[in-house]
Amino acid sequence: MTLTVLHNARMFDGVSEDILENATVVIEGNSIRAIGEDITGDARRIDCGGRFLMPGLIDAHYHANTPSYDFFGTDRMHPALLAAHASKLLTGALDRGYTTVRDAGGGDVGLAQALAAGLIDGPRFFYPGKALTQTGGHGDMRKRGEHDLCNCGAYAGVIARAVDGPDEMRKAVREELRHGATQIKVFLSGGVSTDLAPLDMPHFTDAEILVAVEEAARRKRYVMAHCHTDEGASRCVDLGIRSIEHGSLIGAATAAKIAAAGVFVVPTLSAGELIGANASALGLPLSAAEKIMAVNRRTLEAVETCARAGVKLGLGCDLHGDQFLQTQGRELMLRGQVQRPVDVLRSATSINADIVQMTGKLGVIAPGALADLIVVDGDPMTDLSVFEHSARTVRLVIKDGRIARDRMH
Ligand SMILES: [Zn+2]
Repeated sequence: MTLTVLHNARMFDGVSEDILENATVVIEGNSIRAIGEDITGDARRIDCGGRFLMPGLIDAHYHANTPSYDFFGTDRMHPALLAAHASKLLTGALDRGYTTVRDAGGGDVGLAQALAAGLIDGPRFFYPGKALTQTGGHGDMRKRGEHDLCNCGAYAGVIARAVDGPDEMRKAVREELRHGATQIKVFLSGGVSTDLAPLDMPHFTDAEILVAVEEAARRKRYVMAHCHTDEGASRCVDLGIRSIEHGSLIGAATAAKIAAAGVFVVPTLSAGELIGANASALGLPLSAAEKIMAVNRRTLEAVETCARAGVKLGLGCDLHGDQFLQTQGRELMLRGQVQRPVDVLRSATSINADIVQMTGKLGVIAPGALADLIVVDGDPMTDLSVFEHSARTVRLVIKDGRIARDRMH
């Protein structure tokens, strides 16, 4: 089996704050064989030139199937065109040093199969299929007053589909799991990118959510929930949701409850920042702009509150479209406003790996782990801005033991 030796690196292993100087990592096939000791004999040797070596980045809130903020238009886009966009978005993630992405709605089995077949040169892909929304919820992207052509009252778009009642929920969850969904996504509160449902509107009945959680658990999968509000986040814990997305308004008492339950929160600061600054340019309604401004003011505080309470914080960008994803890694910098760099790096690696149920296999540099690694310029332990334009600053991307991108020279 091919041996690859990375040497002369400053290494962050995804967990420890002790940086290993002059590190050597031996890769055999698609996994890490050893750290520290060099080997003699036949091997491909890569001199890292003293640069920073770390596990490949993981984005726990990605959308491969939404090329823009025109969600209405995306729902009406030809599937072949949509797939071409998705291919670009997945390839781009790997360019930027993300060796794994977890899709948060819309990413489906077709893309997973295209990646597995090597038709798309992208990251590892964890996907929910269509996110599940109630009719009239945040994921129901129909325009108000839109004529129901089929008179069926049903909605199935690119990101989400509507289900109502425990029976429809059960069927929909089973359907997504049948297609190999690695997690189920539901909407539990309104959102900020549309004016479709009030932000503080609770979505679904408890019975509906409990069915989703039960069906996912049967398959040893889990449910991730879009939820901005404090009340909604508290409800997520009560109902067995494993990962709370956004969590923008979480307060201290709920943070303590989330931490005690071992539930993950995945803040998405990039999305808030982008929408807040560019709502009208993105074609979003004024009411969405007002909502996001109000939420943004409290989001950093919520992240800080969660961190202080000991909540396991993942990391995700939640950006839509290639243009905005160029600064996908800016999320790390934004988090650095309220967290230590090492904690942000843990979120982007080992904690996100826990979220995608790959503890010890992804997000760490350790013997037996899968060989997903990046070499980056600068010193992320003191300056997270190195990730803002990571397609330039990440010099080497190794995914599954294979050199996926080489910009060392
Ligand atoms: Zn999202």
